Amino acid sequence: MKKFLIAGNWKMNKTIAEAKEFADALAAKNFANAEEVAILAPFTQLVTLGESLKGSGIGFGAENVHFEPSGAYTGEISVPMLEEIGVNYCIVGHSERREYFAETDETCNLKLKALIAAGITPILCVGESLEVREGNGEQTFVASQLVADFKGMPADDVAKVVIAYEPIWAIGTGKTATPDQAEEMCAFIRGVMGGMYSNEVADSMLILYGGSMKASNAADLLAKPDINGGLIGGASLKIDDFSAIVNAANDLK
Ligand code: PEP
Repeated sequence: MKKFLIAGNWKMNKTIAEAKEFADALAAKNFANAEEVAILAPFTQLVTLGESLKGSGIGFGAENVHFEPSGAYTGEISVPMLEEIGVNYCIVGHSERREYFAETDETCNLKLKALIAAGITPILCVGESLEVREGNGEQTFVASQLVADFKGMPADDVAKVVIAYEPIWAIGTGKTATPDQAEEMCAFIRGVMGGMYSNEVADSMLILYGGSMKASNAADLLAKPDINGGLIGGASLKIDDFSAIVNAANDLK
């Protein structure tokens, strides 16, 4: 049976009280396959999310992390700090962090290694800008991100990483990649991983689509063979919208 991960990325939204209300309501849904659902949230909300989601099967995690375990990095949060909270996931290399906070493939690579060593599942974001797509360079661009982001990582570790294909032109714009466009790139990513490692590793990896996924388009995207779920921004902020996407994945089981 196809495996999914339906992961909400709350970005810089919600107070602790709002996060608790949402997580309590989400846990109460008692989703089938709850272990295929996760919330990625601001650091301030993580302890509360852990408490509210405990025993529900639903995972939770952070949106970013520093690759050093400790030190003079004012304003940063380390992997051991996330471990202490018990997070399951951490986003790495979201395009907003690459664009606004100078995240590079080199830092993504260091973060992947640090997270894997701690047993936290990274959700690595890759994806091209509109300019790159209009120049038909999307496959070359995404392949180069994958090569750099996974540099020096052994197959066993790579197999534990979740990849999210997030075309920048579709994030928060309301413009979704068509199911065929999303499938084409997710299949391409799987092929690149197969070439870099093995088909066994590539086939075992979860490859998500992200970019204005919502209740109305989730089923068509999730039905595609190489799309194992979604990284969902805007539509993850409302419980009904997010639950509808989770249900769309469950209906495909
Ligand atoms: C995201 O931030 O990862 C994302 C996909 O956002 P949105 O769903 O709002 O486009």
